[in-house]
Amino acid sequence: MSDMSEKPAVAFLGLGIMGSGMAHRLLSAKFPLTVYNRNREKCVPFANAGAFVADSPRQAGSRAQIVISMVADDSASRAVWLGEQGALADLAPATVLIESSTLSVAWVKELAAAAAEHGCKFLDAPVTGTKPHAASGELLFLAGGDAATIAAARPVFSVLGREVVHLGPTGSGALMKLINNFVCGVQAASFAEAMSLVDSGGLDREKAVAILNGGAPGSGIFRRMAERIAANDFTPIFALRWMAKDLSYAVHEGQENGVLLKTADAALSVFKRALADGRGDEDFSSVAKSRKAPKK
Ligand code: NAP
Repeated sequence: MSDMSEKPAVAFLGLGIMGSGMAHRLLSAKFPLTVYNRNREKCVPFANAGAFVADSPRQAGSRAQIVISMVADDSASRAVWLGEQGALADLAPATVLIESSTLSVAWVKELAAAAAEHGCKFLDAPVTGTKPHAASGELLFLAGGDAATIAAARPVFSVLGREVVHLGPTGSGALMKLINNFVCGVQAASFAEAMSLVDSGGLDREKAVAILNGGAPGSGIFRRMAERIAANDFTPIFALRWMAKDLSYAVHEGQENGVLLKTADAALSVFKRALADGRGDEDFSSVAKSRKAPKK
């Protein structure tokens, strides 16, 4: 293991759409890298590029000074950190843990407490940006935790992101990310419902989308959805099931804070319908695929 004056040894848990791009950045920047992914096939390109492939999160963590997780949801995060072969079991004291998945605030706080019991430092640092930003090191990290830990993690943040915003103590990054994605999800659901009315009212989709995007409603989310619909390409860049997950975590967070997120709740029901239609693994933009709304 290298000392911190050189490039720190990093373990990366989760080589999905986001994690694979981020881990490739670390390899390109010559960090000593260990990777773990539940489905081992996704590790093959990393082994070929010189990374050590760990059999378990526990083995990955034991080799690293900084451990980054980028997995699906709370239960995936629990599995990689606290599962039977979880990373936390074998970490050296003072290891820096960075949890970059989009997760609930309650779970992030529980994980931070478990990390502290092991004498480790913890940051919740979910990201904005998507697949191309992960691959090009242009993510925005939304960090919760203490400033000294952010400073310790700076060598990896500077390779993976364009900026780190320190939002406050543990859980602040997770909360900000849920707020960010609830606003995205609401826009996506309203775009989907707008398209249903365009279709049912016999309007031309192309003209309608041009009017919406050229005017006040036009937003990054609207433009992104319009592009995917025009190309009829719903290969996931951000899977629909993860947008539904983020909306449900946000609704829960609202309840915990005594804030009724009615628009998030309504958006979640639109996404649940798309999930029921079997579109969970498609890009979230497929929520606006042509589909007649069911009559009451
Ligand atoms: P993804 O491609 O679906 O990858 C999910 C990762 O989680 C895979 O490595 C998967 O392993 C792993 N995983 C799932 N369940 C697991 C379990 N029970 N135990 C261990 N590993 C498990 O998702 P993604 O798009 O990279 O997103 C990752 C996280 O980043 C999510 O929290 C998402 O909300 C967030 N995010 C995504 C984007 C985006 O644009 N895609 C942007 C910002 C934030 P397998 O390969 O074995 O299934």
